[in-house]
Amino acid sequence: MISFSGETKHELCRVRIKDTCCARAEACGVLLYCNQFSLQGIKILTESLSFSKRLPRLFRQAFQVSFDQQPDCEDGKQLFTITQPSKLAAIREACGSGIGGGIAHHINFAFLEEPHCQLAFLRGAFLSGGSVTDPQKGYHLEFVTSHYHVNRELTALMLDMGYAPKETIRKSNYINYFKQSEFIEDLLTAMGAPVAAMHIMNAKAEKNLRNGINRRVNCDAANADKTVDAAQEQLAAIRTLEAVGALDSLSDKLRESAELRREYPELSLAELAALCHPPVTKSCLNHRLRKLVMLGQELST
Ligand SMILES: [Zn+2]
Repeated sequence: MISFSGETKHELCRVRIKDTCCARAEACGVLLYCNQFSLQGIKILTESLSFSKRLPRLFRQAFQVSFDQQPDCEDGKQLFTITQPSKLAAIREACGSGIGGGIAHHINFAFLEEPHCQLAFLRGAFLSGGSVTDPQKGYHLEFVTSHYHVNRELTALMLDMGYAPKETIRKSNYINYFKQSEFIEDLLTAMGAPVAAMHIMNAKAEKNLRNGINRRVNCDAANADKTVDAAQEQLAAIRTLEAVGALDSLSDKLRESAELRREYPELSLAELAALCHPPVTKSCLNHRLRKLVMLGQELST
């Protein structure tokens, strides 16, 4: 079964690759968040079929470069590689990450001045090194990179875009993550996955509804307990009055109330009040029953 992350990536891959500026930004995001981006080569491992279809087109448009062989399968995942030095040099050049024959793992902000390019970069980073938790289980979206500076720079970029990610380290990887469902919804929508964002909103609405129902059930249960406690007290008083033969000396109204309670110990005040002849209000019956309890207590002291 495809995971929520997988579905989200599938949706993101439906965003058309149009402008070359955005293709380059997205491809740079992919590279900085993929399995390997070094002088020796590039390795991108993905289990998303949609992403593995998008990758060759993306790299062609961004860098005019193709993958070495496509794709190798590695336990259900697709592996894309580039090891030819000339291709690697062209990519480093195009990313602006080549320095004196070396490689600089940094976000190139010169490519990310326009909002469409910023979002394209995030989309690439997410497709390559991101994941989002099924909202039925919780709210969590993260970007994982092995490059320290990229992680810090992504925080800066996102803050600039109005998001406030948190940072953490896991197994020598650097992570930007979100736990707030609103941020996750906004980010997914902006990157191009509004359906995934809606799933999160729906899950949240359902959860709120369930919590509301649970609260009401608990509240009803507490009220039921109170009704039972009160009825016990009333029955005890009625038994005392009966034991001393005082029931018959009560007024008709009080005697009727006592008999009804004895006959229907489980009924609520409102239900019992409706059975009186003529029916009385809840507070009127409550008043009578309290009087019975008082009389019973007087007799038993
Ligand atoms: Zn653009």
